[in-house]
Amino acid sequence: MIACDCAVCRSTDPRDRRTRPSILIEIATDRASAIARAVKNVLVDTSTDLRAQALANNVRRVDAILFTHSHADHVMGLDEVRRYNAVQRSAIPCLADEQTLADLRRTFEYIFDPPPTPSGGIPQLSLFRIGGPFSLGGVEFVPIPILHGQRPILGFRVGAFAYLTDCSRIPDSSWPLVRGVRTLVIDALRDRPHPTHFTVAEAIDASARIGAERTYFTHICHDLPHAETCARLPAGVELAYDGLILEVS
Ligand SMILES: [Zn+2]
Ligand SMILES: [Zn+2]
Ligand SMILES: [Zn+2]
Repeated sequence: MIACDCAVCRSTDPRDRRTRPSILIEIATDRASAIARAVKNVLVDTSTDLRAQALANNVRRVDAILFTHSHADHVMGLDEVRRYNAVQRSAIPCLADEQTLADLRRTFEYIFDPPPTPSGGIPQLSLFRIGGPFSLGGVEFVPIPILHGQRPILGFRVGAFAYLTDCSRIPDSSWPLVRGVRTLVIDALRDRPHPTHFTVAEAIDASARIGAERTYFTHICHDLPHAETCARLPAGVELAYDGLILEVS
């Protein structure tokens, strides 16, 4: 947190240094069919910290981008992906719900409605609306409608893995979609209630109801020191941290 001297912000534990929420789903090449092999790395959200995250984790390709929603911390790194356009020599498909697509078009007008003579490089992106499950790299992705305060946004499921960031409620109609999830990444902002994010207790409840074997909390604020918080969480539940790599089926 800018201008904060709390124990977490001054911590020397690298797991307490948290950049904005985002994940990269790398599809195992032996899984993808010959036809679908072109898509390997699927980025979820283009966080404000995208450039630093891509450098820190040596992300060499981004073949597709999924958006959970259009809040600033999840979209403001979008311009940085033009480096991948240059490396890959192709446009990058971006998939999002209707509201997020509209927000992206407005927020990044210079990308989606550029002037006739642009004065600098702009990302080459193609937008697609998510209307249900879709396939990328030979793998099925299932959008999971969740609530972020009053706002409906998307989580994503791939096989037995689900990513539910920025979640304050899982609506009744989405519970069947998360049945059988074994590895879960879910929002747990802090212990004090928040209007648009799960608390630690609420995230523990959701994880237990889903029945995940492994749960990782994300979108964590500086109220939660990594080591101390993990020590008080139930078995199978821990805080995620920047650079965490999970192998999922
Ligand atoms: Zn702090
Ligand atoms: Zn948000
Ligand atoms: Zn957020």
